[in-house]
Amino acid sequence: MIIALIAHDKMKPEMIDFAKKYKTILKKHSLVATGTTGHKIIEATGLNIRCFRSGPLGGDQEIGAEVANGKIDLIFFFRDPLTAQPHEPDVSALLRLSDVYKIPLATNISTAELMVHSLE
Ligand code: PGA
Repeated sequence: MIIALIAHDKMKPEMIDFAKKYKTILKKHSLVATGTTGHKIIEATGLNIRCFRSGPLGGDQEIGAEVANGKIDLIFFFRDPLTAQPHEPDVSALLRLSDVYKIPLATNISTAELMVHSLE
């Protein structure tokens, strides 16, 4: 499967913990990520991840394009619900495309924990 990993800034520690905890599952798949999230996960875990641009600089849109082209199977997107994001329109667009193409998308750790076990 091709899995996308994205985390807003305050959620990055949670995403890194998640990637560490499930590294053995994640490494069996092709991973892509927005720039900062991807580089931080690589640094913490050594996982092989294809990094797009940083989210606010177009990374969410790049992942949206991958979804539209049938190149993403599942998304872990840890959103920060308490902080306004300058690229909120891009975030909404990605969520919308994931629904258009019926791509499973976890927006918080609880959903992610349920979904990651389905990959085992
Ligand atoms: P980032 O982007 O991984 O480059 O920080 C995530 C986002 O805010 O969409």
